[in-house]
Amino acid sequence: ATPTALLVGTGRGAQLGILIKGPEVLESTRRVDTVVLDKTGTVTAGRMTLVDVLPAEGVDERELLRLAGAVEDASAHPIARAVAQAARDRVGPLPAVEGFQSTDGRGVAGVVDGSAVVVGRRAWLAEQWAQHAPDLLVAAAEDAEGDGRTPVWVGWDGALRGVLVVSDTVKPSSRSAIDRLRSLGLRPMLLTGDNERAARAVAAQVGIPAQDVVAEVLPTDKADVVRRLQAEGRVVAMVGDGVNDAAALAAADLGLAMGTGTDAAIEAADLTLVSGDLATAPDAIRLARRTLATIK
Ligand code: ADP
Ligand code: MG
Repeated sequence: ATPTALLVGTGRGAQLGILIKGPEVLESTRRVDTVVLDKTGTVTAGRMTLVDVLPAEGVDERELLRLAGAVEDASAHPIARAVAQAARDRVGPLPAVEGFQSTDGRGVAGVVDGSAVVVGRRAWLAEQWAQHAPDLLVAAAEDAEGDGRTPVWVGWDGALRGVLVVSDTVKPSSRSAIDRLRSLGLRPMLLTGDNERAARAVAAQVGIPAQDVVAEVLPTDKADVVRRLQAEGRVVAMVGDGVNDAAALAAADLGLAMGTGTDAAIEAADLTLVSGDLATAPDAIRLARRTLATIK
C-alpha cells in the first residue's frame, strides 16, 4: 500500500466527519465481517426519561421516587440522570445521600433519611435480599422490557418497594445505518448490559435478529464477547460510546467511537465518528475499501 493513498483516505475521512488515528487503520478495516454495536448511546440516543412509576403494594409513589431519586442523584449513569431529574420535578428538592456506592452494570446504593436504599437491576437486588418479588411487579416489569424499556428496581431496608421504568429512543438514523452495514456484507450485532427483552425489542426496531443480540453483559465482559467472536474466526468492528465500551473497542480489530461519547471510548478506538451519527459507520468502511482498491 502506498502511504500517499492512505493519507488521502485519511483526509477524505475528516471531510466525512470520521477521525482516523493513523493511515494504517484503513488497512485493518478491509477484512471486517462483523460489526458489534453497543445499544445505549450508540444505537439509541442514550437520553433516558422516566416513563412509569410502579410502587409495590402499600408504598407511596412519591416516597419511592424521592428515595430512589436521592441515591441516583449521585450517579452519572443515563438511567440515574433520568430518575433524579423526574424525582426532582415531581417531589421537589431531594434529600442527601450518605455512603453512596455505585456498582458498574448493576446499580447504586446509599443511605437516605436513615434507610438503606438500593436501586438497580432485579438480579442484583435479589442477590442481596432473598425476598420474592411481587408477581404483579414482575409482570409489569416484563411488559416494559417487551416494549424495549428498562425497569429499575428499588428497595429499602431489606424489601423491594417498586419499579421505575425508564425509556430511551432509537436514533432516527440507526435503522438505515444498520441496513447499509448489512448491504456492505457485514453482520451487525447488538451488545448491551441491559435486559434481554429490552435489547431484543430495540434490535427488532433496527432489523437485527434476536440471535445476534448479546444482552445482560457486565461492563467487564464486553471485551470477552468481542474476543469470543474473534476466536470463531470473525474479524470484528466494535462501535461504542461508554466508559464500559473502552476495553471492547480496544479488543476489536477495528474500534469506532461515537464523538458524542466518553473520552475513554474515543481514546480506545481507531476511528471516531465525530457527529455521533451511526450513519458514518458504513461511510468509514466504504471509504477504507475504496482507498485500498485505489492502491491495488
Ligand atoms: P449499557 O451496556 O446499556 O450501557 P450498563 O452496563 O451501564 O448498560 O448497565 C446495565 C444495567 O445495570 C442497566 O440496564 C441497569 O439495569 C443497571 N444499572 C446500571 N447503573 C444503574 C444506575 N445508576 N441505576 C439503576 N440501574 C443501573
Ligand atoms: Mg453505551
